[in-house]
Amino acid sequence: MLAISFDNSYVRDLPEAYSQGEAEAPPKPDLLYWNAELADELGLGTAGEKPAELARLFSGTELPIGAQPIAQAYAGHQFGGLSPSLGDGRALLLGEVIDGHGQRRDIAFKGSGRTAFSRRGDGKAAVGPMLRELIIGEALHALGIPGTRALAVVATGETVQRDRPLPGAVLTRVAASHLRVGTFQYFAIRNDADMLRKLADYTIARHYPELGAQENRYLGLLAAVAERQAELIALWMHAGFIHGVMNTDNMALSGESIDYGPCAFMDAHHPDTVFSSIDHQGRYAYGNQPAIAQWNLARFAETLLPLIAPDDPASAVPDATQAIENFETRYRHHWLAQARRKLGLAGEHAEDHQLAQDWLTLLAAFGVDHTLAWRYLADVVEGKPDRLTALFAEAAALEPWLKRWLIRVAPKSRRPSDIAAAMRRENPIYIPRNHLVEEALDAASESGYMGPTLQLLEALREPFTERENMARYALPAAPEVAEGYRTFCGT
Ligand code: AMP
Ligand code: MG
Repeated sequence: MLAISFDNSYVRDLPEAYSQGEAEAPPKPDLLYWNAELADELGLGTAGEKPAELARLFSGTELPIGAQPIAQAYAGHQFGGLSPSLGDGRALLLGEVIDGHGQRRDIAFKGSGRTAFSRRGDGKAAVGPMLRELIIGEALHALGIPGTRALAVVATGETVQRDRPLPGAVLTRVAASHLRVGTFQYFAIRNDADMLRKLADYTIARHYPELGAQENRYLGLLAAVAERQAELIALWMHAGFIHGVMNTDNMALSGESIDYGPCAFMDAHHPDTVFSSIDHQGRYAYGNQPAIAQWNLARFAETLLPLIAPDDPASAVPDATQAIENFETRYRHHWLAQARRKLGLAGEHAEDHQLAQDWLTLLAAFGVDHTLAWRYLADVVEGKPDRLTALFAEAAALEPWLKRWLIRVAPKSRRPSDIAAAMRRENPIYIPRNHLVEEALDAASESGYMGPTLQLLEALREPFTERENMARYALPAAPEVAEGYRTFCGT
């Protein structure tokens, strides 16, 4: 039997914030995916385990020794409407481990059966959405974007009923933590100031220890969470990533991307792009993401007022408001710093923001593929603009901007090949293209065939290194395929 050296601080420190849970033993666990590299990083000691044993351990058949399965309590604004009691309806936190870098990480199941928070749900998950979570998590990781990762995906051998019957699966997810804006909302709604304080102190100790025990640490927590979100959302925007369901229960306080449900990477650049089949108003459209992050942070701020000023919470409003307003400045700062790297710019010029903005305006005007446009821009420094101009219906429309950019980018002091190489380290050639993700999920769902998923993961593992035999992974779908693309919530 595998024993994992769990150290379960959440269970120990926050007994009011969860309910005990139990994983359901699946009828026929079959290991679809095992992330050996991640297991190693976590120091799980699973190197000698056979696939059948891993399938049992990471599906709920028999838990690793030391696991203390719980369902976390949280509330959340879903599409703007407040649900006071959401919680882990189909997830279980098994426990925490300290990884090889000394970082505390959560290990959690998704899809392991009903919990105290399941309401009318079955607590289950299907193979397709769990593999989407795997693919997106690994893609973000390789792109250098903080996000949760999949350790294992196990098919359960059970059929789950959605709009049609689907093969079931359990995902094992690794996260910096599962603390979210909604965790704070859960106790704020219940006017439980003591628990809010415990939760805030726990969050500070776990993610923002530099804030220490100073008097104004709760205002500091708000600013620190806002800062990490500012950087994260800027990374999403540059990668063309659309989370799809940025409810307050899906915004992690660690600064990791979490809960990839109806998410996707954008092909043709446009601010209004939406993929989620349930996002009818475009609330979580690509271009809305910074504003929604700020809205979520305002909900977080509201929960902190009684901690920032216990005697008169209303008096904390101006400081909290300032912290929320600062998000815009900090987002802009990170966005511009990242844009400069992607554009191959050295130093800082006042016009850089406009230069980057005008580039994106061009991409939107011509419906150009976001990823390829950025990637092929590097070719231009080396005097080979053809791949880039071929993306534009009217290449001439691009010329004035290219001239401006080249003047800014290529002062005599730097070698063009160095500039291009640096740009290619910032602008990936491979992202999880929607049609390829679908193809991979279909093969696994319909026949348990993991080949396409593994090949896709192979391309995504080194997203900045163009490889001749992987041309297919670089290209977007034909426009008529891309046009109607929607992702489903995966419940
Ligand atoms: P999500 O949109 O996946 O972040 O989930 C929102 C809420 O619905 C969370 O509280 C989930 O635990 C719950 N939920 C989603 N799917 C299910 C399911 N199949 N069974 C029970 N609860 C679910
Ligand atoms: Mg969620």
